[in-house]
Amino acid sequence: MSDVKSRRMPVVFFGHGSPGNVMEENRITATWRDLGKEIGKPRGIICISAHWFIGGTGVTAMERPRTIHDFGGFPKIMYEMHYDAPGDPALAARIAERLKPIDVALDQSWGFDHGAWCVLTKVYPEADVPVVQLSIDARKPPRFHYELGRMLAPFRDEGILLVGSGNIVHNLPEMNWRSQSGGYQWAQRFGDYIRKAIVEDEPDNIIDYAGFGRDAALSVPTPEHYLPLLYVMGARDAADNIRFENEFVEYGSLDMTTIVVGSTSRQ
Ligand code: ZN
Repeated sequence: MSDVKSRRMPVVFFGHGSPGNVMEENRITATWRDLGKEIGKPRGIICISAHWFIGGTGVTAMERPRTIHDFGGFPKIMYEMHYDAPGDPALAARIAERLKPIDVALDQSWGFDHGAWCVLTKVYPEADVPVVQLSIDARKPPRFHYELGRMLAPFRDEGILLVGSGNIVHNLPEMNWRSQSGGYQWAQRFGDYIRKAIVEDEPDNIIDYAGFGRDAALSVPTPEHYLPLLYVMGARDAADNIRFENEFVEYGSLDMTTIVVGSTSRQ
């Protein structure tokens, strides 16, 4: 494994799906674990999670972020789990500086929501890599989020891992809880369309996803799970290779695709 400080870090989009994955060891979490080992430990992580979707851009700036149990109806043990990675106030301040003139709040109230900790618990189980979360400004159009990803890209050269956590397709009302494997045809078509746009490096099709019509409207009924992908795509450069993992749909309407952008130690 090469020294993370001497190479450009990859960028990863995690399809996180159900919070219940954190209690399991399954094919999804196995991929997350393997990726952590493959990438090695970065100096820090900037995580954009679907579950911090608010009216502004903020970055967690506390020393000790709390674990947020922002889900309902799961076994009691999940509410007792916590992810004790440190924060990184200095990195948070540098992100705010880097994103100027966008106004970035240095947040002291959030922490790690389940989009962050349910994934990172598997990727870096030792919880010894500092993590900051960046909120998604719900008022802004898709292109804004892509541009923020571009502005964050230079952190890759400093050993910082950029992580987006959401789902390409995420439609809770249409979910079929009785059938874990398999997806609706519209979900499959939209996932294929976005993966093709990623492989062919057509960012406009990824940003203007709604142009795919009815399949897009069903796959992205609300944008919060899709938008983390735009940060990841913004931080991509032309030389990066692309790898898909967990390329399948669960419960009808959750596309679980994880996307690795750029080189890991294995590649
Ligand atoms: Zn989610």
